[in-house]
Amino acid sequence: LTLLGIESSCDDTAAAVVRATGDPKILSSVVIGQTALHGSYGGVVPEIAARAHAEKLDDCVSEALDRAGLALGQMDGIAVTAGPGLIGGVLSGVMCAKGLAAATGLPLVGVNHLAGHALTPRLTDDLPYPYLMLLVSGGHCQFLIVEGADRFRRLGGTIDDAPGEAFDKTARLLGLPQPGGPSVQAAAAEGDPGRFRFPRPLLDRPGSDMSFSGLKTALLRERDALVAAQGGLYERDRADMCAGFQRAVTEVLAEKTRRALAEYLCLAPRHPALAVAGGVAANSSIRAALDAVAQWAGAAFVAPPLALCTDNAAMIAWAGIERMQIGLVDDMTLAARPRWPLDNGSAPMLGGGK
Ligand code: ATP
Ligand code: FE
Repeated sequence: LTLLGIESSCDDTAAAVVRATGDPKILSSVVIGQTALHGSYGGVVPEIAARAHAEKLDDCVSEALDRAGLALGQMDGIAVTAGPGLIGGVLSGVMCAKGLAAATGLPLVGVNHLAGHALTPRLTDDLPYPYLMLLVSGGHCQFLIVEGADRFRRLGGTIDDAPGEAFDKTARLLGLPQPGGPSVQAAAAEGDPGRFRFPRPLLDRPGSDMSFSGLKTALLRERDALVAAQGGLYERDRADMCAGFQRAVTEVLAEKTRRALAEYLCLAPRHPALAVAGGVAANSSIRAALDAVAQWAGAAFVAPPLALCTDNAAMIAWAGIERMQIGLVDDMTLAARPRWPLDNGSAPMLGGGK
């Protein structure tokens, strides 16, 4: 099977060609970012994103096919993100995919964006089900037991902000460049994590739910106190705050992962594994802590390369391949869904297969 994948649910327009077997499996992966378009607004503007997706999708698809050296007619299907995400962008992608499917007669496969992230470790590694996935990005933070291409069990997740968002807000509060993750990590490397004591929310409660919004409030308080006391922030202060913040996030994620792993290990998996996806998985302190927790639990630690951890279409094509392999295809009634929880209990569209 060789599929074309299309992704346009947030601020990246992406297309990719991926095959089920062979080395490499990814024949091409094109990602066109929109950072420059939204830069001056301090966030993604849905209307601007939707228009940019509509404008870029055709070129993006042609580019992906060109780079793979294949024609559309040589595909076995077209996979597209059908949600969740900004509805204008998702609609642009679904319309594009439907047009291509109608013109060629190829099967159309609607993919949940989160399933794309959650199945990525099977694209890059030889990873059997079930595995534990920590999806940790700018918009999401949750633990999933991945039991099959359409079987996901959510264990717990953030009840407010996602860690990526917290990194971005921290950078904004301290006047560091966006995206905040890399700049906070760089500053933290020079700082003393013990100088400021930030909270570890929800650690005192059982389960694997998390909270990150209080961290930002605590940081704001420390910053304002310093500014009031000394008239501004020195580089040293910024570094120490970043280091303290990063340590707090790392410790919360590590402890909650320990609990989620314990729950997952009750299933007695033959090859226990902890996999991560999402942009925050790029953080070296978080990565090292998760690796250590996995080792402690006797589980393998799988972290796909960063380009496949953040939004891309190769993961969508791959999830489409896995769905096709178990007979899950869609037709022209495929709908774009702004919300689409990735859990069998609440997502009947995902719960069909066995
Ligand atoms: P989603 O995919 O959930 O809709 P998104 O597109 O914002 O959200 P990603 O592209 O997966 O998420 O990741 C981007 C986020 O990852 C940003 O919030 C960014 O700050 C964060 N990030 C990137 N590198 C690092 C790092 N080294 N440390 C911490 N966070 C990081
Ligand atoms: Fe994403």
